[in-house]
Amino acid sequence: MAETVFGKILAGEIPAERVYEDAFCIVIRDIAPQAPTHLLVIPKEPIATVADLGDEHKELVGHMTVVASRVAEKEGLADDGYRLVWNCKDAGGQEVPHIHLHVLGGRQMKWPPG
Ligand code: AMP
Repeated sequence: MAETVFGKILAGEIPAERVYEDAFCIVIRDIAPQAPTHLLVIPKEPIATVADLGDEHKELVGHMTVVASRVAEKEGLADDGYRLVWNCKDAGGQEVPHIHLHVLGGRQMKWPPG
């Protein structure tokens, strides 16, 4: 599990600010925030990309989305709204090959994204 930066965070080998944890995932603050609030929902299971998800992951991905909603509410983002992002592989802008759901809020988001 310790082969990516998120594996190392999950293993406690490098520090991160954990704002939430349960049996299936953690939520940390992004080290290079792209919005006033930028959180990452990271599953404990090290799945490399969204393209690797299978039917067996439906419950996990649904859980991560609900966790994102809960932490967004706790961070005060629920009234104005926020953005959830899954980057997938190089063309999608994914840098860390361990899936994670970005929670971005606290500013007006633009569309189309960059
Ligand atoms: P992605 O480009 O979708 O793979 O997103 C990876 C995210 O992980 C980026 O937003 C990085 O800023 C963030 N990141 C990388 N290293 C760390 C770290 N040690 N602690 C918190 N966030 C990190």
